Amino acid sequence: MRKHLYIAGACGSIGTQTLDIARNNQEDFKVVGLSVGSNLELAYKLIEEFKPEIVIFRKKEDIRQISYNPYVSYGDEGLLELASYSKYENEVFVNALVGVAGLNPTAYAIRAKKQICLANKETLVVAGDIIKNLAKQYNVDIIPIDSEHSAILQCLQGEKQQEIKRLIITASGGSFRNKTRSELENVGVKDALNHPNWSMGHKITIDSATMMNKGFEVIEAHYLFDIDYDKIDTILHPQSIVHSLVEFNDGTIKAQLGVADMHTPISYALYYPSHKIESERLDLINLNLNFHELSKDRYPCLRYAYEAALKGEMYLCALNASNEAAVYLFLNGYISFLEIEKIIENEISKDEYKNLEYSIESIIDTSGKIMKRIFESYGVMK
Ligand code: NAD
Ligand code: MG
Repeated sequence: MRKHLYIAGACGSIGTQTLDIARNNQEDFKVVGLSVGSNLELAYKLIEEFKPEIVIFRKKEDIRQISYNPYVSYGDEGLLELASYSKYENEVFVNALVGVAGLNPTAYAIRAKKQICLANKETLVVAGDIIKNLAKQYNVDIIPIDSEHSAILQCLQGEKQQEIKRLIITASGGSFRNKTRSELENVGVKDALNHPNWSMGHKITIDSATMMNKGFEVIEAHYLFDIDYDKIDTILHPQSIVHSLVEFNDGTIKAQLGVADMHTPISYALYYPSHKIESERLDLINLNLNFHELSKDRYPCLRYAYEAALKGEMYLCALNASNEAAVYLFLNGYISFLEIEKIIENEISKDEYKNLEYSIESIIDTSGKIMKRIFESYGVMK
C-alpha cells in the first residue's frame, strides 16, 4: 500500500532529498503535506509539482496564489496542524526541521498515529524519554534518518539487546578536522560551512565542526536503542564510508558501509526494514578506511554532551538551547567560532536545571528563555 507522506522542512537538505525519493517512486509514496521555509521560489515549485493537500508556510506574508486549492496555514501553529492532519491509512511524518522547533511537531504527529521518520535529532536530545514513551503509548515507530543511527539500526536487525557490548558512532571530523585548537581562533563562517564529505544545512554543518553533532548523536543513540552512555563510543573516520558500528560480547563487530549520500538512510527509513532503492555503489577495491581516536580535549562540545546527559534531562535542554543560540550568533557574525563552546559550557555549568520539570511545555519554555537571554547578552533581539 502507498505511504502517505507529510514532510516538515521540505525545502531543506533532508526535505528535498526525501522529495527526490517520493518523485522517483510514485507507486510507493503520495505526498499529502509539506511545510516550506524561506526559499519561496523552491517552495512554490515543490507545491505545484507534488500538489499536497496541506501546505504550511513559515510566515503569513509568504502565502501567494497556488494553482489548485490546498489547505494553507503558517507558523508554529501551522506545523502542528500539519503534524495532526490525518485522513489516510499508512501515514508517515518526516521531520526535517532544525532545532527544538521540531519537538512539538514530532509529538503531535505521534498523537496522530503517524509513523515517524526522524531527521530532527534535537527532538530526541531534549525530550528523548518523553518522545519514546509517547511513541510506545500510540504504538508508533520512530525510525532514524541520521546516517549513523540508520547504520546502527541495520546492524542490530535480528540481534539481542543483552549481547551488545557497545555502539561505535563514526565522525568525519567536520570542516576543521585538520586544524589544531589554536588554529581555530580565527576561522570564519565560510570555512566552517565547507564540510569535507557531506552537503547539509548550515546549523548541522556548524554542529559537525564543533563536534556537538556527534554529542547529539550519542544522546540520540542512547534513547533510540536503549543503551547506557558508557556503552556508546565515538571514533574519527575521515572517509565517512563506515556509517557506524556495533560491537557484541564475543568481539564481533558489525558495521554498515556505503557512499556518503543521505538518500540511502532516508530511503531505508521510508521503506524500513527494506533496502529498496538503487543507489551509487561503493568501490571496494579502491577503498581506504582509517579510524582515529576522537579527542574530547580537541572537541570539548562532545564532552559537554556526555556531561549534560549525566547531569539530568533538563541539562540536555540547556545544552541544546545554548548551542542553538550560539550557532545562530556565529553564523550571523556576532561571535567567533570558539565562543560557541564557551557559551555552552557556561550554560550547562549552572545549577538551575537540576530541579526543572521535564515536560514538553517546560522544555519549549526553558529553551525559549535560554535563547532569548543569550541573544540579549549580545544585543540581538530575536
Ligand atoms: P536545512 O537547514 O537544510 O533545512 C531545514 C528546513 O526546515 C528549512 O527549509 C527551514 O526553512 C525549515 N525550518 C527550520 N526551522 C523551522 C521552523 N522553526 N519553522 C518552520 N520551518 C523551519 O536543515 P537540514 O540539514 O535538512 O537538517 C534538518 C534536520 O536533519 C536537522 O535536525 C539536522 O540535524 C538533521 N540531519 C541532517 C542531515 C543532513 O545531511 N542535512 C543529516 C543528519 C541529520
Ligand atoms: Mg549524522
